[in-house]
Amino acid sequence: MSSAPIYGILSDIHGNLEGLETVLKDAHEHGVTHYACLGDIVGYNANPSECLETIRGLQCVCVCGNHDHYCSFDDDLTGFHPLAADAVDWTRRQLSAEQQKFLADLKLVQRVEKFTIVHSTLDMPEMWGYVFESLEAEASFTYQMTTVCFYGHTHVPLAFEKGSELTAGTYERIKVNLEKKYFINVGSIGQPRDGDPRASYVIYDFEAKEIKLRRVPYDVAAAQEKIRKSGLPERLAARLVIGR
Ligand code: ZN
Repeated sequence: MSSAPIYGILSDIHGNLEGLETVLKDAHEHGVTHYACLGDIVGYNANPSECLETIRGLQCVCVCGNHDHYCSFDDDLTGFHPLAADAVDWTRRQLSAEQQKFLADLKLVQRVEKFTIVHSTLDMPEMWGYVFESLEAEASFTYQMTTVCFYGHTHVPLAFEKGSELTAGTYERIKVNLEKKYFINVGSIGQPRDGDPRASYVIYDFEAKEIKLRRVPYDVAAAQEKIRKSGLPERLAARLVIGR
């Protein structure tokens, strides 16, 4: 048996415990031995504290997302989308001071073995920019020292591949060519926004140099029920079923 690590790359869990537990079970069944977390563990869904403890239990490298950042201290939420601000406000009250400190201490960019992880962009991670277009990916590539970098934040799985030219598109499986660079969004576990409500994550097989996108159905109704009971905005429950 080979002992080369197989990574599960998790992002934008957003307090969705049903999504997270289903993904971890799927990852285990597919031979995942290690994890990396791209941030936004909390915010939007009803189990921020439980998701945070589950991620901490994985002992994986984790970077900070904008929701992790805003939920970790009592900053003013002016300029935040009202729906997000309500969720941040609610989430802050669910986390212990110790949990908030854990989130506050997360770094924005991390190296994990031979790849990089970031929540938003490599060029200005503290600005929480969204990468949907090649021009935005190009700015991150300038700062990318590893063949592969995984990012999150948009909740839309998307891959940028930079060889002699830059290509972009959706993906299911990527064979890594060490002469190129890859900036890859793994999608969201807790609140997918590409029209597919299934939880999204990536399996990165180091030795096989293979990146596979996984989409996993989970108990959306249970996650919705918890949101409705918690007093979080109804729209946060409604959107889970349409994946927007
Ligand atoms: Zn997010």
